[in-house]
Amino acid sequence: MDRSINFLNINNYKINLLDLNRKEIETFLFSLGAKKFVTEQIMKWIYHHNCIDFNLMSNLKKDIRKKLIKKSYIFSSHFIEEKISFDGTIKWITLIDKQKIETVYIPEKKRSTLCVSSQIGCALKCEFCATGKQGFNRNLRVSEIVSQILQANRVLKEKGNKKLITNIVFMGMGEPLLNLNNVISAIKIILDKDGFGLSKRRITLSTSGIVPALDKLNKKIDVALAISLHAPNDVIRNSIMPINKKYNIKSFLNAVSRYLKYSNANKGGVTVEYVMLNGINDSNKNAEELANILKKIPSKINLIPWNFFKDSHFLCSSISRINTFANILRKKGFNTMIRKNRGQDISAACGQLTGEVINRFRTFL
Ligand code: SAH
Ligand code: SF4
Repeated sequence: MDRSINFLNINNYKINLLDLNRKEIETFLFSLGAKKFVTEQIMKWIYHHNCIDFNLMSNLKKDIRKKLIKKSYIFSSHFIEEKISFDGTIKWITLIDKQKIETVYIPEKKRSTLCVSSQIGCALKCEFCATGKQGFNRNLRVSEIVSQILQANRVLKEKGNKKLITNIVFMGMGEPLLNLNNVISAIKIILDKDGFGLSKRRITLSTSGIVPALDKLNKKIDVALAISLHAPNDVIRNSIMPINKKYNIKSFLNAVSRYLKYSNANKGGVTVEYVMLNGINDSNKNAEELANILKKIPSKINLIPWNFFKDSHFLCSSISRINTFANILRKKGFNTMIRKNRGQDISAACGQLTGEVINRFRTFL
């Protein structure tokens, strides 16, 4: 069902416009008797000018403004804390329902990447991931996802940064495919020329492999895909990623192939994420196995040195082990990179995001 229609049916319920994508704003404005072009005006104020006050939207007619104020509001969640790493990475914390979610800004020469969260916590409990260990509370709303980008752009501007966010990665807290509808709607706003206006190749969604949701994504939106594979066979994957017992490697990779068939955003192939865990998944044999299961999938491989977090029993593979592993894959013709760890000193690196989650013991598995 169209989510906006759902909203409109509720009498006297004020709508947060940040929860709506273009189509939904249009439907809402239509119900107020406003013309279609008002959608563009409002979206530009919000996403281009970072203005969330109706009274400052000078080109809106007075009667429309009045109706908007009566029936809607614009609320963006705010960063309450900032931690800056020696390497320029910044972690921002947002307070939502007395809990904390995290957003990470990663500046590079040509890109300004924002790593956004899609859920408060994560229900999938991967053994090596601090977010998984925290438990799960709830999905983020569209407004709570896009607010992370709005706030990042606002803060960067305040800091005198000329380059605002150029790339978005759904690699923060949570499993984006378990919050599919809200993530798709947020992506529509990120892609929209009157929204953040980024191209589909600049948006990367990382998933641990929720097969039916990946098939749905396939039909609704095209973005760059990253997959959290982390193991070359089901025995190892079962032991570190419980989701594999529901959707095993074969079914995951088949769904990835289906996605790639229709995708333009993944021209260079899917990004395979593989966390390097000492003695668990990092042997020469494991590298050969990995090459074997990926031989039919156009891919580039990202080896991620495992990032430490408290109370975890894992160790990261040694640098020489990671290099040997990478070289085996390269010899087999795979484009293989070793991911640089950014923001480790402020616990902003992959898998270190914990925020503060009130665990509701709701688990997907
Ligand atoms: N839930 C999604 C999105 C999170 S992306 C997913 O799992 O794909 C975060 C990436 O960092 C994932 O590839 C995840 O597996 C990886 N990761 C998790 N914990 C890590 C750790 N401690 N060190 C390095 N990478 C980690
Ligand atoms: Fe959730 Fe991804 Fe962490 Fe697994 S790696 S627990 S899916 S956030």
